[in-house]
This record gives sequence, C-alpha cells and structure tokens, in this order.
Amino acid sequence: MAECGKCGGAQETGFTLDEGYGTRGPAQWFAGEPQRSIWTGTRMRGVTKRRIVSMRCTRCGFIENYAK
Ligand SMILES: [Zn+2]
Repeated sequence: MAECGKCGGAQETGFTLDEGYGTRGPAQWFAGEPQRSIWTGTRMRGVTKRRIVSMRCTRCGFIENYAK
C-alpha cells in the first residue's frame, strides 16, 4: 500500500464520482484542452480518457488522484 506524500500515513483506494443527468460513474481524466462542440458542449471524439483513482490518506485526509 502506498504512503501519503504529506505525512507518510496509510492510503486507501477510492474514486471520485461524476454525476450527470440520470447517470453516475467514476470520474475520468481527459487529455488536452477541451474542444467546444455546438452539439454536445464539449467534443469528446478521439480524446484520450482515463479513469481516475483517488488515494486518500487515512491519517491527514490528503487525496492524490491517479489516471492510470
Ligand atoms: Zn497524510
């Protein structure tokens, strides 16, 4: 198990949630700048995406996000 970069405490694995209209799922990370689309608000086609894993320190509460 990884250690907290701030205090050296134990980290626990978790995730952050994206909530949309009637949907919810793990938050994701996207490469590059957001491209505007007149149809969907943000163009997502061809964009690299990764699921975000959040590591939370059980001692100080510091959260580190990893997009593996
Ligand atoms: Zn800590």
